[in-house]
Amino acid sequence: MKRNTDQALVTYHFEHASLARVSHAVFTRLGGVSRGPFASLNVGRSVGDDRAAVAENHARIYAYLGLSADRVATASQVHGNRIAIVTNDDGGRIFPNTDGLVTNQPGIALMLRFADCQPVLLYDPVHHALGLVHAGWRGVAQGAVRRAVETMQHAFGSRPEELIAGLGPAIGVCCYTVGHEVAAVMGYALPDWSQAMHPEGNDKWRLDLSAANAQQLTAAGVLQIEQAHLCTGCHHDEFFSHRADHGHTGRFAVVAFLQDRVTPPQGATPRRRVERTAPDAIAEITSLEPPGLPSFEELMGATSA
Ligand SMILES: [Zn+2]
Repeated sequence: MKRNTDQALVTYHFEHASLARVSHAVFTRLGGVSRGPFASLNVGRSVGDDRAAVAENHARIYAYLGLSADRVATASQVHGNRIAIVTNDDGGRIFPNTDGLVTNQPGIALMLRFADCQPVLLYDPVHHALGLVHAGWRGVAQGAVRRAVETMQHAFGSRPEELIAGLGPAIGVCCYTVGHEVAAVMGYALPDWSQAMHPEGNDKWRLDLSAANAQQLTAAGVLQIEQAHLCTGCHHDEFFSHRADHGHTGRFAVVAFLQDRVTPPQGATPRRRVERTAPDAIAEITSLEPPGLPSFEELMGATSA
């Protein structure tokens, strides 16, 4: 990723050439007004920070990107796998119980919040469509990035092999020790867990979250993956890190929106129109909780590490 300090805020940007058509920024924790463990550009509203400070931090981010709040859609993230299809009508909306946002409309920006979990940007240059996902180990366990790819396929006609994925700053294998429970879940979730899990002795493992998300994207057919290789734990002076800051910390923002399209390329017609029948009709693919099976929370009950 490219680090940018040209303006008041310090930001990172993916470098893949096609992503030049996506205005996007991974914000750091630098340049805001919050204090203490939330210093300084915290965008987490439910972490205990002063509300006025969080509002000012949002205003700085929107100003940086030339956005107004009513052009930004966001989500109440729950470490799940629900992906919402976002339209220009969703400005200012907070999608409940959602960890991924996708859109093919340039009039709306997508925003999510992070502190160790991985931001994953998806871009379809053929259909000019965009996705943003929040994926920590629970997201990996529930195939969050795979479901975002599937949603883009259904909604926009995106082909996985044409998608460009950017894996942003996240807790690195250097700083991420997990127990047997998480290791066992990775055994189910990953095509080759041994490439993402490294035994450390004493019933402990190291999880390479970026490798895990990359593996799921590859398995879904995504060929072009740019990895930030930036550990939020090692760089917690620059990023909020749940682990490095011992759970008492803020959230940094990732925001992305499509630039206006000049000429639509050939064959860019979506396979199927996205019909919105009611304000709460979010996505056809919702959380993976088939009737008759225990919920994910029940399955994972003892492992909320
Ligand atoms: Zn690290």
